[in-house]
Amino acid sequence: MNYLSDRINLLAESETLAMTRRSRELRAQGFDVINLSIGEPDFDTPDHVKEAAKEAIDQNYSHYTPVPGYPELRQAIANKLKRDNGLDYVAEQIVVSTGAKQSLANAILSLVNPGDEVLIPAPYWVSYKEIIKLAGGKGVFIEGSIQADFKVTPEQIEAAITPATKVFMFSSPCNPSGTVYTYDELKAFADVFALHPQVFIISDEIYENINFNGKHQSIASFENIHDRVILINGLSKGFAMTGWRLGYMAANKEIAKACDKLQGQITSATCSITQRAAIVAMNTNPADSPEIKMMVEAFKYRRNLAISLLHETPGIKINVPDGAFYLFPDVTSYFGKSVGDRVILSGSDLCDYILDTAFVAIVPGVAFGSPDCIRISYATSEDNLREAIKRIKEALAKLK
Ligand code: PMP
Ligand code: GLU
Repeated sequence: MNYLSDRINLLAESETLAMTRRSRELRAQGFDVINLSIGEPDFDTPDHVKEAAKEAIDQNYSHYTPVPGYPELRQAIANKLKRDNGLDYVAEQIVVSTGAKQSLANAILSLVNPGDEVLIPAPYWVSYKEIIKLAGGKGVFIEGSIQADFKVTPEQIEAAITPATKVFMFSSPCNPSGTVYTYDELKAFADVFALHPQVFIISDEIYENINFNGKHQSIASFENIHDRVILINGLSKGFAMTGWRLGYMAANKEIAKACDKLQGQITSATCSITQRAAIVAMNTNPADSPEIKMMVEAFKYRRNLAISLLHETPGIKINVPDGAFYLFPDVTSYFGKSVGDRVILSGSDLCDYILDTAFVAIVPGVAFGSPDCIRISYATSEDNLREAIKRIKEALAKLK
């Protein structure tokens, strides 16, 4: 008897986490697995942030905090948004959550009614589609192509908007494609949304700091839509703090209050110690932080290295991502090929084959809405990356 709810039966497991789980299981069995499936910095949290957490423990910050976060933290986030992004928010517009993942879920569950459409450029981050499903919403996908650097156009967005469209949701820098929209491109999007006052914009900016070519731009900068933008960010990527679990949103006060109410019934606030450390992180200007600058330089170096190693592989089409820490190559030329009795019909087959025979974990593009591609995270050491790509190339060369 299946006694679980329809809601949970319909929900897919997070494919990024599933691949990571499989690679941990294989490693526990003694296999030498290189995990390029999870997207998390392999660097340590900056020391001054760690010190703040240690002090917070000693100072007994061990109680429940206000649900949307300590007032000092919400203010520090508002200050950060002014300092780094030129955006005006007051502390009441900030809600701190247990990771940006919860901030995204709070936003969707607070805005989307059953049947509402949520527009998403594809490829998109895995969890968007499933969170929308939980809310009873309908994901509507706008296809980006590798030839266009996976960017969608304002014309495509305009054509996809219907009276049922409630939310447009995207990440820039993008997970999984690494695509970064420019100021002018975001302005053109904002001009489309200005014509459709029923549409809210969820702007996932979690990879803000990991941008190789320029200054981060936020769609919240445009006055004509500012009040309808829900900006999402957090500490996981930019400060190498994935396990600490802190994300935040900045939104109009009504949405912020709704998310506070929702969170108050589900998780309450995130960890008090993490929040004290986050005050110090938010007061750190990334442009002046040696740790963050070193991390971003290392990602840029690895991106170039991974691309140059993969470029020599016949049949792999690759765009040069401007941010985040993923490559998202098109691998369709391998579909229909085989080795022994193993036939590769999809990106998922290819990822399974590479995990089983080369012991490298990567994620099929179908999880991100682009079945022609695979996602390779290069947030790992140079040695790991060289060895993993060598193994991938050997495995691919066997396919005929
Ligand atoms: N958005 C995107 C695009 C991501 O890649 C991630 C990474 N897990 C998240 C949100 C969630 O981040 P976290 O919950 O760790 O803050
Ligand atoms: N965002 C990371 C990824 O895409 C972490 C895994 C997850 O939270 O799903 O790999």
